[in-house]
Amino acid sequence: MTQQGKTVAIVGGGYGGAALAKALDEHADVVLIEPKDAFVNAAASLRALTQPEQWAERLFYPYDAFIKRGKHLREYASGVDERGVTLASGERVEADYIVLASGSGYPYPAKTRTDSTDEALAHFKETHAELAGADRVLIAGAGPVGLELAGEIKAVWPEKRITIVDPSDELMPGYEPELRAELHSQLDKLGIEVRLGVTLDDEPAVEPGRTGTVAVTANGEPIEADIWFRAFGMSTNSGYLRDGIAPLNRRGQLPVTPTLNVEGHAHVYAIGDVTNVNEEKRAAAAGRHADVVAANIIAQINGEQPASVYEPSPVRVAIVPLGPELGVGQMPSENGPVQLPLESVIEWKGRDLMVGYFDQAFRLVPAQ
Ligand SMILES: Cc1cc2nc3c(=O)[nH]c(=O)nc-3n(C[C@H](O)[C@H](O)[C@H](O)COP(=O)(O)OP(=O)(O)OC[C@H]3O[C@@H](n4cnc5c(N)ncnc54)[C@H](O)[C@@H]3O)c2cc1C
Repeated sequence: MTQQGKTVAIVGGGYGGAALAKALDEHADVVLIEPKDAFVNAAASLRALTQPEQWAERLFYPYDAFIKRGKHLREYASGVDERGVTLASGERVEADYIVLASGSGYPYPAKTRTDSTDEALAHFKETHAELAGADRVLIAGAGPVGLELAGEIKAVWPEKRITIVDPSDELMPGYEPELRAELHSQLDKLGIEVRLGVTLDDEPAVEPGRTGTVAVTANGEPIEADIWFRAFGMSTNSGYLRDGIAPLNRRGQLPVTPTLNVEGHAHVYAIGDVTNVNEEKRAAAAGRHADVVAANIIAQINGEQPASVYEPSPVRVAIVPLGPELGVGQMPSENGPVQLPLESVIEWKGRDLMVGYFDQAFRLVPAQ
């Protein structure tokens, strides 16, 4: 537990970076480079939109609640090399170890469109008011985010008419047929219309999340709605790494070794969505990456070989709640993928969207 006077610069304080900063806080001088004023539990953002009074404030965890010794610099990284990080302000952070955890972006409301908690809260309230006044909702994208959004809306406003469109021919491609069958059955019960194999011919003229006349065609068929949301378009936050420490793949992801070192760099690591690890991009995976890298950096600080390696799940993993009382999930087992019973979907995610877990992990409430 001794502090060895080594500096660890962590770029990005999302699921991976925040967990790592906390894990290393007693072992090194942590410098967290993160423009946001708080960690954001994005998994709860869709409920923050539909029920802002009860949920929106619970998404945000100020960093000083769980990083006690380390420093948080509210800055963007603009470049990285073996010896440190250059900030957008032009300042340098020299470091013994560097961890790249800048994650990914996703269109609002799934991820916030500001670095300020107060502004993000105002956005959720504003969009909630727009949504409350709309009878017909169009969601473009039937991945987990589009499906979860539809479920959260129905949980609050069962009477709203929701249409989800997606170019794919099936829901959750690559998952087991049982998961798809259960999803379709629940969506039918909720009265959510899903149009698959369908692409919007043009983007609606109205801004997403604003009420107005949404009149579009999809494969030539007209669709009308009073509001629409974009539920596709994840992008890797790695612009600052172009021409940098290692060649990015076509998705903008960094190549990492099993110890989660950036290829060719013994003191530079990467975790979470910014890596090229071959798995579904998940907060849970980013947290496990953080455990591996914490162990490896502590070993290196103590003069040992970094021996912790990350093994991605061979099975596609997801928990997709449709509001607090419905949803589906798939997990790995010794015999391959298994479907989660509804009670587990609710208990593990649907009921509180991991808020209880992060309340404990990031010490906003005393441990029970
Ligand atoms: C609506 C929604 C629900 C989800 N639900 C789940 C779920 O239930 N379970 C699950 O496992 N996964 C879930 N995910 C996926 C999960 O959110 C991502 O996999 C996760 O955010 C990845 O974590 P990360 O630490 O790699 O990066 P992120 O959480 O994306 O964090 C990256 C951080 O880096 C910062 N940053 C970006 N660029 C820079 C820069 N240049 N300099 C400094 N900082 C920078 C950002 O501000 C951000 O805070 C969900 C995603 C969405 C959108």
